[in-house]
Amino acid sequence: MQAQRPIELFQFCPQCGAPNLHCEPQENNSRCLVCGFLYFFNPAVGNGNILINEAGEILLLRRAKEPSAGCWDTPGGFIEAGETPEQGAQREIFEETGLSVTQLEYFVALPNVYEYTGVRYDLIDIFFVGHIVGEPQIRLQESEVTEYQFFEPKDIDLPGIGFDSVRRALALYISR
Ligand SMILES: [Zn+2]
Repeated sequence: MQAQRPIELFQFCPQCGAPNLHCEPQENNSRCLVCGFLYFFNPAVGNGNILINEAGEILLLRRAKEPSAGCWDTPGGFIEAGETPEQGAQREIFEETGLSVTQLEYFVALPNVYEYTGVRYDLIDIFFVGHIVGEPQIRLQESEVTEYQFFEPKDIDLPGIGFDSVRRALALYISR
């Protein structure tokens, strides 16, 4: 079954339970025609992180879970409510790799689609570039990542990257 956006999946008003949620074509909100409840469906925010070692190689992680299980990806994830994008990026990097990267430089932000358990989430992924100082002591989060590797930029197989936004960000970085 093709994944659907939340705006397509929600059929009952979460406030009064009426089956009267109404959405104008091309609009990003649903309104309940009974109680007036109004909800906006906007993109969530993620982060991706291009981490460079002292040899100029880029760290990629192989995903353990869907979506895109088995594909290479940059460290990253969703930004949580209340976090700055940098805090969310540092948290995700630390959770997935055990690395503390204190200096992250904004690189680019790109739209992405994340499909999970039949739901299609629209995202904006914010990409940062960070540098790993010294010999990296990597401790993988085994529930999320099966292996890591440092790649010379020219050796990265872009079609094998699991997400469109990550593929585009890496292509932009490599072509600089
Ligand atoms: Zn209602």
